[in-house]
Amino acid sequence: MRSWVYHRPTSVRTPTAVFLDIGPLAFILVEVSAQLKQFLQLSTPSNEHWTCTRDALVGNCGEQNHPMMKSMTVVVVGGGVVGFSTAVCIAEALPYCSVTLIADRFTPDTTSDVAAGILICSPFPDIPLEQQQRWFKESIDHLLAIAQSEQASEAGVLLSSGFRKAGGQVVKQKVNDLQELSSQGYDVIVNCSGLGAKSLVGDSQVYPVRGQVLKVQAPWLQHFIRDGEGQSYIYPGMHSVTVGGTRQVDDWRLEVDPEDSQDILERCSSLEPSLSRARVLGESVGLRPSRKNVRVEREMVLLGSRQVPVVHNYGHGGWGVSLSWGTALEALGLVRKCLHERPPRARL
Ligand SMILES: Cc1cc2nc3c(=O)[nH]c(=O)nc-3n(C[C@H](O)[C@H](O)[C@H](O)COP(=O)(O)OP(=O)(O)OC[C@H]3O[C@@H](n4cnc5c(N)ncnc54)[C@H](O)[C@@H]3O)c2cc1C
Repeated sequence: MRSWVYHRPTSVRTPTAVFLDIGPLAFILVEVSAQLKQFLQLSTPSNEHWTCTRDALVGNCGEQNHPMMKSMTVVVVGGGVVGFSTAVCIAEALPYCSVTLIADRFTPDTTSDVAAGILICSPFPDIPLEQQQRWFKESIDHLLAIAQSEQASEAGVLLSSGFRKAGGQVVKQKVNDLQELSSQGYDVIVNCSGLGAKSLVGDSQVYPVRGQVLKVQAPWLQHFIRDGEGQSYIYPGMHSVTVGGTRQVDDWRLEVDPEDSQDILERCSSLEPSLSRARVLGESVGLRPSRKNVRVEREMVLLGSRQVPVVHNYGHGGWGVSLSWGTALEALGLVRKCLHERPPRARL
């Protein structure tokens, strides 16, 4: 195993990074500060660094001038890091489509808000490795471009307004079933509902892996520490240090468990004894939307009397921040295919 450790940054423009070269996917741990994470979730790219990068998927294929595209409507369900990334990709690449994002929870109440914000992933077993590596690399490139941009320090504000600037609308509402969306006449439904996919589309393969973390005040810590399995970790951030964690399969509890907190602090203090004098600032719990393989695919679903194209992008497990932009680009490609393959009569 090779590893490189860099000092903690003084600004988000120079992210702290620990690179661990292990296994078939290069593991790259890059600190994504809470502020930057919020930036990714809430905003949209508004300069050229952030425009969608995969030419084959996003390149101008004449859609902007295509008369049919002007009346197309796309709805994205999900207001976590995956839903926002996907909505931003679509709104930017298909500016003449109307994009609406619907979710019943937004920041700070999504799983994405609990994520430590480290770029790291492990391969899904049945998805080509090259494809996963591409998703990972595209996400890293995207995040680093934001981190190195002029607007990095005000990122939290820019992302949300940017999405609206790109033509998207945000609606707070629970979607009980896809039929509701079909009745509203959307041309394409994009499902980024994370764990919500279990009930929304009846996916029995998606399950929670509960994670609990603590934020502590320990400004003297300069480096990440992560045990071999990733069960215990200490990630110094801009304003606090995240210590974790737990991986409790099929555990739906969203409440903080004091015993878990004590266990985390004991494990992490054995890795870094100085943590025992750190002040605890907060504790939080998130349910990782886990699945054997992340689901990024499209299908036609019969909703009432209509066959409606549905693009799925959920089940990222513990790697949702790390794969968010890459899988968003993939979903964009699938949306584009749906729009182009609409039967001629339906386009009228
Ligand atoms: C403790 C912890 C640490 C983590 N650390 C990292 C890390 O360092 N790096 C990393 O890459 N990942 C990490 N993760 C994983 C990461 O948080 C998830 O993979 C990611 O947040 C998933 O994003 P998402 O947008 O798919 O889901 P979510 O953030 O859960 O968002 C789902 C959205 O869908 C909406 N929704 C669902 N159903 C419906 C419905 N029926 N109607 C309307 N809206 C609906 C919800 O309201 C929500 O807005 C961590 C997770 C945990 C718990």
